[in-house]
Amino acid sequence: SAKEKGRNQYHFFDPGLDEHRRNRRNQLMEITRALENEEFELYFQPQIRITDCQLLGFEALIRWNHPAKGLVSPGEFLPIVENSHLEVPLGQWVLKEAIHQMHAWKEAGEDLAVSINISAPHLMDRSFADYLESYLYSHPEVNPGQITLEVLESTALEDTKRASNVLARCQTLGLQVALDDFGTGFSSLTYLRTLPVDIIKIDQSFVRNMLEDANDHAIVESVIFLAQRFAHPVLAEGVETMEHARALRHMGCNFVQGYGIARPMPASEVLGWARQWQERLESGKHGDALSP
Ligand code: C2E
Ligand code: MG
Ligand code: MG
Ligand code: MG
Repeated sequence: SAKEKGRNQYHFFDPGLDEHRRNRRNQLMEITRALENEEFELYFQPQIRITDCQLLGFEALIRWNHPAKGLVSPGEFLPIVENSHLEVPLGQWVLKEAIHQMHAWKEAGEDLAVSINISAPHLMDRSFADYLESYLYSHPEVNPGQITLEVLESTALEDTKRASNVLARCQTLGLQVALDDFGTGFSSLTYLRTLPVDIIKIDQSFVRNMLEDANDHAIVESVIFLAQRFAHPVLAEGVETMEHARALRHMGCNFVQGYGIARPMPASEVLGWARQWQERLESGKHGDALSP
């Protein structure tokens, strides 16, 4: 009978499943150790205003300096962290580190804006806005207006009402809110309608082939149109060539980010990069590349 079968299954030992669990437990333990040993590091990728090539700021992107494997990208370890007890501590580390870095740059004379990726479960953590406020409080030199929270729309926000309350409170503190990877999730339009959004980021998967693929081109164009109707500026990710940047500019896109401008770089290179960009801008070298 089914009941008997169920009972047998209960006693049946599944080595595959067990190994999977053990694996994940080991990986989580390794990540805990990595957090304690400060093996995580933020890289920064510039975001540029298309019309005049002015530097908008930098997106903070996490990396893991693994003692044996070298630099590990978030695509490899964030899925492990997702929905685990480490999601909030890792998110807190990112938040703290990004604000700390802004403070260091401020001391060095540069008031650079930083975008920080926030996972949905982290945003939904009960005291998210509280410790955000306390980090800001302990870094009074950092201008909250220079911080953008990038909320991933691909991770389902179960309670959009609460999410929008938390985000609204962050906006009261002066922060901006960006809707990341727009169009890739399940409920882009619902989020657009419900969440207090300042900027929309078009996902790189639409941008990458937009010059060859008419459908992708239509999607990018439509997202820009939609954003304009909501009076939200748009940033296109994955801009790998100047042709992309030029086409996006024609479509009315406001900001670009991608390998075509610069790859994500360690914090130690940011000031030099920003100054060099500014110098080239003043000597008129970027104008040609991006002009229509
Ligand atoms: P994202 O927030 O959409 O970040 C953009 C990703 O695209 C980054 O990958 C960046 O390196 C990559 N990228 C930028 N320009 C180009 C380009 O021109 N071509 C291509 N092919 N790729 C480009 P990365 O750093 O591997 O991060 C992947 C994702 O991991 C991020 O996507 C974000 O969702 C997540 N992530 C990264 N750092 C954090 C973090 O600190 N916290 C959280 N919660 N998530 C993070
Ligand atoms: Mg992002
Ligand atoms: Mg994105
Ligand atoms: Mg992405």
